[in-house]
Amino acid sequence: MNPLLNVDQALDNILADMKKLEAETVSLPDALDRVLAADIVSPIELPPFDNSAMDGYAIHFEDSADASQSKPAALPVTMDIMAGSAPDEELKPGAAARIMTGAPIPQGASAVIPVEDTDDEWQKGEDSALPAEVRLFRSLARGENIRLAGENIGVGDTIIRAGTVIGPAEIGMIAGIGRPRVEVIRQPKVAILSSGDELVDIYDELGPGKIRDTNGYALAGLIRGAGGVPIRLPIAKDSLESIRALYRRALEINPDLLISTAGVSVGAADLVKVVMDELGEIDFWRINMRPGKPLAYGTIQGVPFFGLPGNPVSTMVTFEVIVRPALAKIAGRAYKRRKVKATLASGMRSDGRRTYARVTLKREGARLVARSTGIQSSGALMSMVLADGLAVISEGVRRVPAGNEIEVLPLRPLE
Ligand code: AMP
Ligand code: MG
Repeated sequence: MNPLLNVDQALDNILADMKKLEAETVSLPDALDRVLAADIVSPIELPPFDNSAMDGYAIHFEDSADASQSKPAALPVTMDIMAGSAPDEELKPGAAARIMTGAPIPQGASAVIPVEDTDDEWQKGEDSALPAEVRLFRSLARGENIRLAGENIGVGDTIIRAGTVIGPAEIGMIAGIGRPRVEVIRQPKVAILSSGDELVDIYDELGPGKIRDTNGYALAGLIRGAGGVPIRLPIAKDSLESIRALYRRALEINPDLLISTAGVSVGAADLVKVVMDELGEIDFWRINMRPGKPLAYGTIQGVPFFGLPGNPVSTMVTFEVIVRPALAKIAGRAYKRRKVKATLASGMRSDGRRTYARVTLKREGARLVARSTGIQSSGALMSMVLADGLAVISEGVRRVPAGNEIEVLPLRPLE
């Protein structure tokens, strides 16, 4: 037997093979949660013109000098500027322009006094007759309540970097510069193949000795959550013909990645790796990791594949540790695994492999406390249901005492 391969080494080998997919163009609303393919550079400045930050009166700021509640300054109102209009006159010194939030500042004006700081009793709609005169109850500084052209974004500024996952704010920004279409990285298509004579899909009857295929569903969820498009194939039987046939079917859908589960350990029915070897180029590794020691990896007709271990927890943990970063690279995502430090509530044991223990995470005062989910069996998917994170016990460490600080990879946002 080969010695166990270090987890980081395995991941480095795999990442070196992963290539970013090509870009495609989508309409702006469809760009949500997609990965930006190229930096977005603004062709305009934002705001595009000086505009009012308040509903109020635009004035020459000098005209408010010494104005106060008891000694207001009175100015004739000579202009009325609504949002969306384009004032063509200049505001004369000693005069005021009624102005709405977002409306362009007229030439000459240098500040806006909010309506609340004037004697105008703001009327909405039809009754909002323009007063002949307005009294200012305070003085203003130059530029007060004016949003300057270009103060947020200048022409040529990079507003969003390639690799960013586009969220609602990015969509809004892209709309702000008037782009109806966006270049994004194509979403990786991932074929999923469960194998095992004991497996039954959720719609079929469960006979004696049978269990449900949970890996197919859990993996599909993981892939979708990572920005991929999962495609589940029918369950393969533990026979060379069945596995071969389903591998071929998987390749027909032109996947960017192929993931099968089970059949890669040392059991008599572990035929997946035989087929992988037959159809493609396989690297079979025993990784120094718990759960999830056996991992087959390689390419078939240029498509990278992963043969993950069949135990449901092993499948999910190997996905987190190995497949997720690989998928992120294909998807062009700027990916960095999140890690937190937590205090271990009770002691943990390991067999000396790098262990990813399922833990809950709870804030207790200033500390984040990690507790084992109880069951740690790699067959017990409940340990993943309960887990907030994976606590990492380093290679060679067999015991971590209670109270020690431990590194945890969060599986969900922390409360
Ligand atoms: P194997 O890798 O085939 O030896 O499978 C290891 C363990 O995982 C066995 O207990 C299998 O029954 C179980 N297993 C394999 N595939 C799945 C699956 N798709 N869903 C749920 N359990 C599975
Ligand atoms: Mg099996």
